[in-house]
Amino acid sequence: MANLPNEPEFQQAYHELASTLENSTLFEKHPEYRKALKVVSIPERIIQFRVTWEDDKGEVQVNNAFRVQFNSALGPYKGGLRLHPTVNLSVLKFLGFEQIFKNALTGLNMGGGKGGSDFDPKGKSDSEIRRFCCSFMRELHKHIGAETDVPAGDIGVTGREVGYMFGAYRALTNKWEGVLTGKGGTWGGSLIRPEATGYGCVYYVEHMIQYASGGKESFKGKRVAISGSGNVAQYAALKVIELGGTVVSLSDSKGALIATDEAGITPDLVNHIADLKVRRKQLTELSESAEYKNKFNYLAGERPWVHCGKVDVALPSATQNEVSGDEAKALIEAGCKFIAEGSNMGCTQEAIDVFEAHRREKQSGAIWYAPGKAANAGGVAVSGLEMAQNSQRLSWTSEEVDQKLKDIMKNCFTNCLETAKSYVPAAEGEFPSLVAGANIAGFSKTAAAM
Ligand code: GLU
Repeated sequence: MANLPNEPEFQQAYHELASTLENSTLFEKHPEYRKALKVVSIPERIIQFRVTWEDDKGEVQVNNAFRVQFNSALGPYKGGLRLHPTVNLSVLKFLGFEQIFKNALTGLNMGGGKGGSDFDPKGKSDSEIRRFCCSFMRELHKHIGAETDVPAGDIGVTGREVGYMFGAYRALTNKWEGVLTGKGGTWGGSLIRPEATGYGCVYYVEHMIQYASGGKESFKGKRVAISGSGNVAQYAALKVIELGGTVVSLSDSKGALIATDEAGITPDLVNHIADLKVRRKQLTELSESAEYKNKFNYLAGERPWVHCGKVDVALPSATQNEVSGDEAKALIEAGCKFIAEGSNMGCTQEAIDVFEAHRREKQSGAIWYAPGKAANAGGVAVSGLEMAQNSQRLSWTSEEVDQKLKDIMKNCFTNCLETAKSYVPAAEGEFPSLVAGANIAGFSKTAAAM
């Protein structure tokens, strides 16, 4: 990578994957996969373009936009679009790279890609966002299609933005096809898609808890720290509550909410936050609400990890690198036994090293870490199910989709576990490394197809 531009996020994601492959027996068993690693680390294609759009004052604005078509060995490029001021090529290459192996872990035929723009939806009117989305599609429509590249949402892109883009695509191409997922129901969107990433993450952790306790424990009675307050965090919180756990925190880019009430964060409060986020507002608004004021502390500028008291499960569900090495140590101190990423690369490499060292040393008493490419695969999995429904011109019920999601997360967990057992030498009594298992399983499937 020496002659490539400085791409810290992408390099972090690449080294995280490559180091676990190196520390396994994979390359001994499959020497040809060494070359596959080199090949897979270069995107098949990157489309870079500008988006000009008109703001409410009639002024022309311009943004950078990209689509990274990373790997199509397993199927059409598949992955979300992120609209956030931090978006650049390094961020989208890391996300596209992760997406390849995540999509492989769903067991469905989807390649990996990612796209987006440094456009900031915060503080923009609905009309400005619609005009941006239509202009964005004016270029992107030339490069995507139901059989070639199927984008979806990510940070800053909800069903509303997908709807604007779907309408623009239809008008520009004269085609009504499953070119985007996360659509509204009237355009062939799948039921359970908005819930899927959060629900899927909780289903994955349920398997971790069951395995670790020999089937004796569940979410019941567990204290769960969650970061973020978008789609992933909201539905993870609701599912944890449904399964009998207590949600002790949520957060956004401006600060953290820590529950002070025994009952933790209630479904009512989660729904209130969801409403706030649709209006692109911050959690600071809540600290002024008389109804909720006594139920939590709002900590401006903080992340939840060191503030929750006793924690059994942590689900980083906001954005990349949101758990540092010191916060990882604090979570272990707080009694945390399970950590799973609802976000992509939620943990820094330092945090992963802390969790993995603890797992090796303390064996079955240790914290157990699941990376985003496995734990948050439920979102793109239901996107894959949306593609299947669109191809058949059918829609499945919520129960059908939820059952398929549960099966996919179960298979994903078992695959990570068994792959780690087969390829990573471990001491007696040590839990298998889910991060190594996820990387080896996702990479091997892609390499075999390549
Ligand atoms: N943005 C989500 C992810 O990181 C979903 C992508 C999709 O549904 O295509 O996996």
